[in-house]
Parts: sequence; C-alpha cells; structure tokens
Amino acid sequence: MDELRRRYLRQQAELGGAEVILAEPLAASSAPPPPPATAQPKWLRGAPPIPGPGLAVTTADPMLLGNDLANLPTLDAVAERIRTTYCCGLCPARTNAVPGEGNPDAGMVLVGEGPGATEDATGRPFVGQAGKLLDGILEAIEVPRTSVYITNIVKCRPPQNRKPLPDEIAACIPYLHRQLELIRPKVIVAMGGTAGEAMLGVRKGLGELRNKVHTYNGIPLIVTYHPAALLRNPNWKKPTWDDVRIARQLLDR
Ligand code: URA
Repeated sequence: MDELRRRYLRQQAELGGAEVILAEPLAASSAPPPPPATAQPKWLRGAPPIPGPGLAVTTADPMLLGNDLANLPTLDAVAERIRTTYCCGLCPARTNAVPGEGNPDAGMVLVGEGPGATEDATGRPFVGQAGKLLDGILEAIEVPRTSVYITNIVKCRPPQNRKPLPDEIAACIPYLHRQLELIRPKVIVAMGGTAGEAMLGVRKGLGELRNKVHTYNGIPLIVTYHPAALLRNPNWKKPTWDDVRIARQLLDR
C-alpha cells in the first residue's frame, strides 16, 4: 500500500469514518527520474553505421605533388598559382580558373569534377544548379558551407562540361594534393566517380567505390554521387544521403 493511501485510511479512522481529503500534493515518486533523452541530431536518425575500410592512397611521392607546389605555403598562394599559369589544354579557354574556396581550417573538403559554366563565369566552385543542391545537402547534415572547403579535380572548365581527360587530370591534380596537404581535413568527400577515381588513382566506378571509408594520406575519404547526377536521377538521392551522413559522422570523430 502506498504511503498516501495509508495516511488517508489512518486519518479516516481518526475522524470516525468521515471523508478525508488529503490536501498535500502527491509525494514525488522515489524512482529516479528517467535520464534525459540524449539529443540526437535529425540527420543522424537512421544513418548507416560507418562502413569498413576501402582503398588507401598516399601522395607522399614528390612527383605527384608536382614541381615546386610543395613550397607554396598557403591556399591563397596555390590559388594565385592556378590563376596565373596554364597547366593543360583546358586553361587557355577559361574565363576564370576556379581554384576552390572555403575555410582553410575546414574539417570537411568536398571535391567535384570540374567547373561548369557558372563557375567559369564567376571563378567560384559549385555556384550553379549543382551548387544549390550541394548547399541543401550541407544544410541537411548541419554543416555550414562557410565551414568547409570546396574544390574540384580540374580547376578550369572542360568544354561542354565533358569529363576531364586523363592528361588534364594528371596535370591539374597536384594542386588538389597541395590544397589537401595544407588543409588536412578530418574527412574528404569525392563527389562523382571521376573525382573518386582520380583521387584514389583507380578505375573502379562509383558503385564499387561507394559505401567504404577509403583513406587519402591517412584522411578518411568517402565517394558519393555528384550533385549534378542527382538532378538527372532523383533515385540517387537516398544513397547520397546515406553517404553524406557517414561523412558527417567521420567529421564528428
Ligand atoms: N560541377 C563540378 O564538378 N564542380 C563545380 O564547381 C560545379 C559543378
């Protein structure tokens, strides 16, 4: 019998059976209060666990860093070099080179394939339609665009937005290597098969590269769909959502 009922019956007996109203509030339960629900961010609900390891690459080979790029001390110095030199056949046709932009201390670096028309016109990465989608993806995982660094495998627009050719990638990718060496993010997201293959130095296709945590110079690297591909095929949004939530978990580690 609980304490309240015992008291009620006792007082009722004392008063010769008259109705008793216990005015005191119910005693607080002696059971400990339930632990506060740990605040889980919305993006984490149903997110896949971090998958197992994939490929590991290193660019320690100074040849891969290219000439004297290793001596460029800052991202601004790398950007200046990109803007003031030609490294392949794409460069002479550019309106603007698009070195990349963002936080030099970024925890996350996102790497696309190459600038499109809007990026060529403005000199900024991912500011066209695909960029709007990328903004939405970042917002969904609660990562401000101002906190990341965004760049591309090639820094000048390929004609008609075709895929960059192997020799164009080979000529330009040393800039990306240097950018990543300077930033040393906690996670890299390669957007699209071209970016994934170029960074990992393989030809395996997106299907094989997705859903693994590769490492690039010891930095976790996730490969996912390119935002422009999602505009063409919305069915790829769900796997992309899974991939970016894995990247987000790696950013938190
Ligand atoms: N697509 C890319 O791969 N990069 C950009 O900067 C814009 C579109």
